[in-house]
Amino acid sequence: MAPPLRPLKVAIIGRPNVGKSTLFNRLVGRKIALVDDRPGVTRDRREGTAELGDLLITLIDTAGLEEADPGSLEGRMRAQTERAVDEADVSLFLIDARAGLTPTDRHFADMLRKTGKPVVLVANKCEGAAGDPGFYESFALGFGEPVAFSAEHGLGLADLHEALRAHLPDEQPEDEAAAPEDDGTVRIAVVGRPNAGKSTLVNRLIGEDRMLTGPEAGITRDAIAVDWEWKGRPVRLVDTAGLRRKARVQEKLEKLSVGDALRAIRAAEVVILVVDEQMPFEKQDLQIADLVTREGRALVIAVNKWDRCEEPDTRIRELREMADRLLPQVRGMPLVPVSALTGYGLPKLMQAVFKVRERWERRVPTSELNRWFAALIEHHPPPAVAGRRIKLRYVTQGASRPPTFITFGTRVDALPESYRRYLLNGLREAFDLVGVPVRLYLRKTE
Ligand code: GDP
Ligand code: GDP
Repeated sequence: MAPPLRPLKVAIIGRPNVGKSTLFNRLVGRKIALVDDRPGVTRDRREGTAELGDLLITLIDTAGLEEADPGSLEGRMRAQTERAVDEADVSLFLIDARAGLTPTDRHFADMLRKTGKPVVLVANKCEGAAGDPGFYESFALGFGEPVAFSAEHGLGLADLHEALRAHLPDEQPEDEAAAPEDDGTVRIAVVGRPNAGKSTLVNRLIGEDRMLTGPEAGITRDAIAVDWEWKGRPVRLVDTAGLRRKARVQEKLEKLSVGDALRAIRAAEVVILVVDEQMPFEKQDLQIADLVTREGRALVIAVNKWDRCEEPDTRIRELREMADRLLPQVRGMPLVPVSALTGYGLPKLMQAVFKVRERWERRVPTSELNRWFAALIEHHPPPAVAGRRIKLRYVTQGASRPPTFITFGTRVDALPESYRRYLLNGLREAFDLVGVPVRLYLRKTE
């Protein structure tokens, strides 16, 4: 069977000390380089690409928004776990067979069960007889037969491969250029710092009769999504609960709740980041923007309170320059001046939303992609490293939403970062993917 076009996303889950990092390092090694368009400085959670037999895997380590999410250890672990599980095709749930099951393990098991997503149970530290009792005990977790494993000694890799193989995502036909839009509804989240004008903007967009704020709130308390139409196109505004809750209790938190923003971002296809014209691109704005691109969603920046702007022409140029410099991973993203108060700029904002979603969903036919690829490589071939040439053979689009490409070649792990950027930028320009997150994986062939 041919390997899947897109990597299998695998989250490593488990309480501290069961061997998650050891497993991660064991699988990722240094074989394959993962490239994407985030600046290296923001890589605060570990993700790596690994080959296991014929499987190409993206491993997600569950160290992530730890610091940003205050609270108990349990709470932090839950947030990290949910985030990773949500993204992954399958979770590797590790237990320590030598230590046996602990209440925390059972807690994780319940949580994983509730997500309803596939789980492969791994009994780690199974080398030697000391792991036997824990191995048998773990059947009781209800995830079937555990994979007997030793991350430290590299035992059980074949069984792990077989267990993961059972969870391959459906293959997408390579030339599925006109993939049907899911249900045609554009899902949008509106995020930003407190007081940026999110509630005002949302109310203005959906119409005053459906106000989310104020004593006469016209929608039910529990509504978390609002459906409406923009010029005949169905639009769903997701996760309005967070917005309304805060507006209601007049609780303008100084600190942004990353958890809230993350939930909204995940539920959306396109995220509108609302910034205040007077103080745009502060640290929190950049954090949210970075989160949006890391989650692989399309980003539109609404520069709000434009009614107060005194030199609009100069200012928009300044903002454009700032945005591109501070968010190079989505350089050229839509940046739309608006006034939520007066309604100025809202048609342009919605146009930008539709446009950027189109790019985000784009599928480039393999033939077209490879014609471009051949020309690009001829124009500027990969450099030789240590006297040996790196050969890049072909490229395929593994997924859209966001656009994800896989390049196959020899010695790809030696490919310099500058060349990777050259490929990414080339892809962006050639296929009109400017301003959306683009993923690029390198895969070794012999
Ligand atoms: P994490 O907190 O889940 O990431 O766990 P680590 O990967 O840091 O491992 C915790 C401890 O368990 C370390 O001392 C590892 O060396 C050890 N360990 C990891 N895998 C194995 C294994 O397969 N067998 C044994 N005996 N120890 C292991
Ligand atoms: P949120 O915390 O992001 O939901 O922000 P709000 O929608 O509650 O707005 C915060 C404050 O900014 C309120 O006093 C709004 O009236 C004001 N505001 C919102 N949009 C605009 C705008 O376009 N222009 C001006 N001048 N003020 C605005």
